[in-house]
Amino acid sequence: MDFDLSWILLGLPVTFVLGWVASRLDLRQLRMENRQAPKAYFKGLNFLLNEQQDQAIDAFIEAVQNDPDTSELHFALGNLFRRRGEYERAVRVHEHLLSRGDLSLADRQRAQHALALDYLKAGLLDRAETALLKLEGTPFEAQARLALLANYERSRDWPQAALMAQKLEHAVQGSFSGRLAHYLCEQAAAQVNANHMPQARALLQEAIQTAPTAPRPRLDLAKLLASQHETAQAYATLVDAFESSPAAVPLMAGPLTDYAVATGQTAQALTLLQAQYQVAPSLDVLDGIVLLECAAQGPAPSARDWYVRHLEHEPSLVAAAKWIAGEKLEHEQFHPQVQRALDHAVKPLTRYRCAACGFEAKQHFWQCPGCQTWDSYPARRVEEL
Ligand SMILES: [Zn+2]
Repeated sequence: MDFDLSWILLGLPVTFVLGWVASRLDLRQLRMENRQAPKAYFKGLNFLLNEQQDQAIDAFIEAVQNDPDTSELHFALGNLFRRRGEYERAVRVHEHLLSRGDLSLADRQRAQHALALDYLKAGLLDRAETALLKLEGTPFEAQARLALLANYERSRDWPQAALMAQKLEHAVQGSFSGRLAHYLCEQAAAQVNANHMPQARALLQEAIQTAPTAPRPRLDLAKLLASQHETAQAYATLVDAFESSPAAVPLMAGPLTDYAVATGQTAQALTLLQAQYQVAPSLDVLDGIVLLECAAQGPAPSARDWYVRHLEHEPSLVAAAKWIAGEKLEHEQFHPQVQRALDHAVKPLTRYRCAACGFEAKQHFWQCPGCQTWDSYPARRVEEL
């Protein structure tokens, strides 16, 4: 028994050493072979061209192991990993590239950019920010700034987003004044929630100066003023907004009507809405007109005639349903059922729809919750598009 055990104890290290020597020999031979013909590389390319990504990755890993100096191969492999959603592996490849001392400056910047993309796709926003900031002054600067802007918007860091938008504007990447106004409005909304009304007002005034033709700052300011019982001021603000952003009139018709009724300026508001209706007949303006006429003369039957007049040139189901709602029907007992069916059919038509991605919502959004695009919701409802 003793004899056997000592042999095993002696045999183990010897086998280990022999195995190690054999593996070194093997590796050296493999390297020799691969310098001569990077077969695995071409094999990988072939798989890639045939859209067989799994096999391509296996072949590329083999090629990279055999020849760790090829940076192009590392880039290809990193991109493949990212495209397949294997972000950890993509990060490892690009970090490995960055750690190499012999990399050219251009390749180093490229690897840094690729690493930033890995983090972005993986949703690791903090790391993505650090990686993107390192791209200042490189050929990837503009792309990095746009990505940073999107990043700050996603994390609702409005002051940082504003700084980045200003940088982009200075670098002649188009006008960002509309977005800057939105950032100010978002900050104002946060101040309203915290009950800091003077700060919110100041931010909205700044937003109006930043983008004088944008509808949101004036609309938000009017709502703020109305909540502070300064309804006459709110009304005047919206009258200004009608002039500065006529395309958004349908969004403002509802609140304008409310403020006009509250301050007894129905006649003036009615003239304003009727003039707007002549230019662009829209359902929200129509509703405002009917409401104002009813407010002026009591529930007048003539007010509902507006819906019929609208139907003469727009075959609108929404307008028809609203007209029927006030109509005396012959079989009065069935009216609620019919009205319920109509309301149900009309509901999808009164939504707002993002022009960029088609996302529909009951309320109007300044930034689409689906695709994050700003100002992609038209002021008009689905039926009127
Ligand atoms: Zn969208």
